[in-house]
Amino acid sequence: MSKCYRLAVPMVAALIGVSAVSGASAAEVNLYTARHYDSDERLYEAFTERTGIEVRVMEGDSDQLIQRILREGEASPADVMMTVDAGRLWRAEEEGIFQSVDSDTLAERLPDSMRHPDGLWYGFSQRVRAIFYNRERLDPAEVQRYEDLADPRFEGEVCIRSSNNIYNQSLLASMIHHHGADGAEEWAAGVVENFARQPQGGDTDQILGVASGECSLAVANHYYYVRLLKSDDPEDRAMARNVGVIFPNQDGRGAHVNVGGAGVVEGAPNRENAVRFLEFLASDEAQEIFASGNNEFPVVEGVLMDPVLESWGNFRVDDLNISVLGENNPEAVRIFDRVGWR
Ligand code: FE
Repeated sequence: MSKCYRLAVPMVAALIGVSAVSGASAAEVNLYTARHYDSDERLYEAFTERTGIEVRVMEGDSDQLIQRILREGEASPADVMMTVDAGRLWRAEEEGIFQSVDSDTLAERLPDSMRHPDGLWYGFSQRVRAIFYNRERLDPAEVQRYEDLADPRFEGEVCIRSSNNIYNQSLLASMIHHHGADGAEEWAAGVVENFARQPQGGDTDQILGVASGECSLAVANHYYYVRLLKSDDPEDRAMARNVGVIFPNQDGRGAHVNVGGAGVVEGAPNRENAVRFLEFLASDEAQEIFASGNNEFPVVEGVLMDPVLESWGNFRVDDLNISVLGENNPEAVRIFDRVGWR
């Protein structure tokens, strides 16, 4: 039946010029997602089981999906767009991809910091941008704050990836919020002074740089470390054992976090189903699956966590509203440019 349906749609669309999937069925939601974890399949199945609404998935990287939605225009079947990092959600927001959603369920279930002030998108999982250190070369008591990464004590000791990476842009965006643009620029310049090497590779490469002793300190999202800890390759696990994790700024604002998030697309043909899908993502059941896909932290408290994350205990996270990271993104990019952080 669904096959027949798919064949019929383009013709109908061509004939009467309406959107391809628009309103054709009350029981589906079209999800454009930049996530691609095995567990996502389970998530969609659980949603369908609970609601009878089928999830149709379009995968791609974040910018591709944005371009696709823009290209499809009013004919776009997209109901929900899902991606990671507040900087990318902000890009989608800037392109006018999202519409405002007001939901009591989301307001009750999600912390303030995880909700865009206008309801344009919501954060459903948290990733901590942590500091990693070489256990032999450094006493973690020496490094307690992001600010320490710019301390001249650590000249030639810091591994961190390039500034075109959105994770670093968001980290600097949070520094702008807390220290002002000048303070953030001073910090970024200090970190550049402390580079162990020119930025290269992804987050995992920074952690491996610490493991091999090329640097004493690195910055990376926590789940890359968890991946190494859980790797099937004994060499990865041995590397990870040389490395310790620091959740920064525990005596102050808390560790910088970013999100996996989603919003309802402007002009969504199945708006109601889209809102239900977001609400489902905030349920205990979905939170557990959503976060586990990438070893992330759930945003709803009390949800069962991965044993490794559980073993880290409680720590403080910065409760800055995640949307600020996007707002400060252009300034962050300019600062990186000025201080020569390539
Ligand atoms: Fe990542």
